[in-house]
Amino acid sequence: MKIIDMRSDTITLPTEEMRQAICEAEVGDDVFGEDPTVNRLEELAAQMMGKEAALFTPSGTMSNLIAVLTHTRPGDEILLGSEAHMLWYEVGSASALGGVVMRTIPNDQDGRMDPGTVEEAIRPKNIHFPQTTLLCLENTHNRCGGAVLTPDYTSAIAGLAHQHGLSVHLDGARIFNAAVALSVPASELARSADSVCFCVSKGLSAPVGSLLCGSQEFVEKARKWRKMVGGGMRQAGIIAAAGIVALQKMVSRLAEDHANARRLAYGLAQVPGITIHPEKFQTNIVMFESPSFILGSEFTQRVATQGVKLLPRGGRKVRAVTHRMVGAADIDEALECIELVVKELG
Ligand SMILES: *Cc1c(COP(=O)(O)O)cnc(C)c1O
Repeated sequence: MKIIDMRSDTITLPTEEMRQAICEAEVGDDVFGEDPTVNRLEELAAQMMGKEAALFTPSGTMSNLIAVLTHTRPGDEILLGSEAHMLWYEVGSASALGGVVMRTIPNDQDGRMDPGTVEEAIRPKNIHFPQTTLLCLENTHNRCGGAVLTPDYTSAIAGLAHQHGLSVHLDGARIFNAAVALSVPASELARSADSVCFCVSKGLSAPVGSLLCGSQEFVEKARKWRKMVGGGMRQAGIIAAAGIVALQKMVSRLAEDHANARRLAYGLAQVPGITIHPEKFQTNIVMFESPSFILGSEFTQRVATQGVKLLPRGGRKVRAVTHRMVGAADIDEALECIELVVKELG
């Protein structure tokens, strides 16, 4: 049976060009700073994010942890959205390994936090209080359906944090999806953040890796933290080579994934029983609710038996992510299959 897998864009396999680049990669020991391919990827990433330097890490999760370790000290408090990936899906690492208190600010449906609420949450000087030292943003916003933060919003909220002496970290795992959706360079979305990380292993289709970017000084400290958490890799040019292809060749095609996500969202809106606001989805993540009589987890099991894989998100919520390995025809096929399952269930 043919499988249409829309659980995540992380399932994308490397392209032929990536495999070729991996084959031919010039490598060295990156812990000594001697892997020319890793160095090239880090320079390219820094340049695309408009930052002085970058650090190659094995995952977005490690990049976010290293950002916390670099920006804060144990006992500090960090502010992040109530729907943040760093809060939900990173095993509590900021608290467990960074020793910081995670204080959440409600995320609205578009992945934003209210500036007034953020300002109120910043601790004044008081012997009893932990010190608030970091604000974390997320663009695109995973749990908020791939919502995009604009440059204006980002600079306003970051400006506020800076006024109060906080640093700003942007979890930009899918920042290139935001950049393509808004037709702005990614560097503009990252400009007001002190650090930004993004993944090459999601829609950009590289097999492994993430880049954490910031000032020279920030990255120098982050490099030491990366070593401490075991992320110092040796001939990492083998995987970095694919990351270079990802950045040079795979960014603009994300527009196709966005078009397919819209195709899917508007198609789902035509299926009786499914709840969705199709106009909401700007990038490659689509969220909807299964019919009222069935849980999302049961619903995804049923459609999986027909070859369509989706991700349950608690309650009736279901997530679908479009990516390079799912074309417009596959979307139509998936829609037919979902419609059939709903009919059978009803
Ligand atoms: C995927 C993701 C991460 C983590 O990336 P991994 O490489 O899977 O560890 C972090 N933040 C956001 C918003 C993500 O979507």
